[in-house]
Amino acid sequence: MSRSPSSAPENDANLERPGAAVNKIEKFPMYIDAEWCESSSGRWFDTKNPYTGDVWAQLPEANETDVNRAVEAAHRAFTSGPWATMTPSDRGLLLHRLGDVIAANARYLAELEVRDNGKLMVEMLGQMKYLPRWFQYYGGLADKIEGAVTPIDKAGMFHYVTYEPMGVVGAITPWNSPLLLTVWKLAPALAAGNTVVIKPSEFASASMIGFAKLFEEAGFPKGVVNVVTGFGQEAGGALVGHPLVKRIAFTGGNIGGRKISEAAAHQFKRVSLELGGKSPHIIFGDADLPAAIKGVISGIFAACGQTCMAGSRLLLHSSIHDEFVEKLVERMEQARLGDPFEETTDIGPIATEAQLRKILDYVEIGKSEGAVCVLGGKKATGLNCGRGWFFEPTIFTGVTNDMRIAREEVFGPVLSIMKFESDDEAIEIANDTPFGLSAGFWTQDLARAMSLPKRIRAGTVWVNSYRVVSYMAPFGGMGQSGFGRENGAAAIHEYLETKSVFINPKSSISNPFTLQ
Ligand code: NAD
Repeated sequence: MSRSPSSAPENDANLERPGAAVNKIEKFPMYIDAEWCESSSGRWFDTKNPYTGDVWAQLPEANETDVNRAVEAAHRAFTSGPWATMTPSDRGLLLHRLGDVIAANARYLAELEVRDNGKLMVEMLGQMKYLPRWFQYYGGLADKIEGAVTPIDKAGMFHYVTYEPMGVVGAITPWNSPLLLTVWKLAPALAAGNTVVIKPSEFASASMIGFAKLFEEAGFPKGVVNVVTGFGQEAGGALVGHPLVKRIAFTGGNIGGRKISEAAAHQFKRVSLELGGKSPHIIFGDADLPAAIKGVISGIFAACGQTCMAGSRLLLHSSIHDEFVEKLVERMEQARLGDPFEETTDIGPIATEAQLRKILDYVEIGKSEGAVCVLGGKKATGLNCGRGWFFEPTIFTGVTNDMRIAREEVFGPVLSIMKFESDDEAIEIANDTPFGLSAGFWTQDLARAMSLPKRIRAGTVWVNSYRVVSYMAPFGGMGQSGFGRENGAAAIHEYLETKSVFINPKSSISNPFTLQ
């Protein structure tokens, strides 16, 4: 069944807050070839509001047939139709227009995200207002993908290098920042001239459907962007396995990342993997402590620690350890848990019930390993928590870097604190991890600020700051945090093929049995 795009989303920027109506479960049909449709099986799955624990929306459960249809639509749009012949400058303008439409609908998109994943409205609104920058930046790059003429070492021969789009890109994204992490893929992929099929997380797909509505408003030709909703193995797996999908851009956990990498390898498909982390956050003895405390909070307690870049290992110099812990605990005891829509809330719920259980398990693991829980450690049930999936901000001291709470990603508000004596020791602990996504350190010593980043094995290093991202700054991991980079000018080349062209005006081959 398909419905006309105009009748599909039952909510609009002008309508009530999504999910706000009592007992009303909204349906968000998916978007394939510019049509709003159900799954061919007719099956829908529920998505729950983490603040209430209630089902608030339903999405089509896409199967292989649906994914095939989306990929074929994207392939058609890539090979024929207006997108295939559009000049890069016009493509760029279209991306700019999409940015404008997003800006006009930022609040609506933010509300969908908060409803679906429980993150704070204040954060999600900030993210949504920032999204247009990606389309402006990559829209500007669309007509600056310049090739080169080579002074080739072959007499009389003309040689040039040119860059071409790859075809259909499959974007598979997680639940923690659904639209931001999609846009990191979508903007460069479209600027490069590809078409895209997006498979958002089954735990947070509604905002992606709200977002899809905006492609039409911006004037994208049909089939250029498609959204299939469903589960990892079935819908995601079908996308990865489809031979017409030339490139997979994945953000998610290491288990899914490994499966996708293996499946893509069967077809030698290009993949980027933005995976998990166990990022070190180092506070040297000379740091501005009040600022560093805020930095640590933003690293691990913002978004309930459900961020890939969470500064989950805190390394404190022994000279400031006790004072820092005391002040951090004091500050976090005052953190206000509650409705993520309220401006006064500091900490919202955990996105899923399963995630809440996982966090609880890790707290038990930490205790059994001998770490000392100096704050939190339990499901939160305060006055403002309602029936939501809340977890208390949790701090462990006396952690050693071989404990599981120091080595494995918890993806929750759980901080593991360790002590160090020297810069060398801090760097050694920081680098002693299978991950390598990000790291931060605080110091007022310029020499240290300048020299340490190159000694830290991580894709991003923040000095006297934390959790800063930009469309201009490459982001991605080393080691088990994955490979490939998103953001920054070079990211557009992650979605391009390089072609080398030799033209011999004289039509000659000197010796056919040797390399020319
Ligand atoms: P997840 O791996 O469970 O799911 C991510 C996406 O992959 C979902 O859309 C899911 O349906 C899909 N998927 C899962 N298995 C699949 C398979 N076999 N084939 C195809 N698709 C499959 O991750 P999550 O729980 O949604 O997100 C949390 C994880 O994401 C954390 O580990 C976090 O660190 C990571 N993350 C990384 C970054 C980064 O930029 N490095 C950013 C955000 C989140």
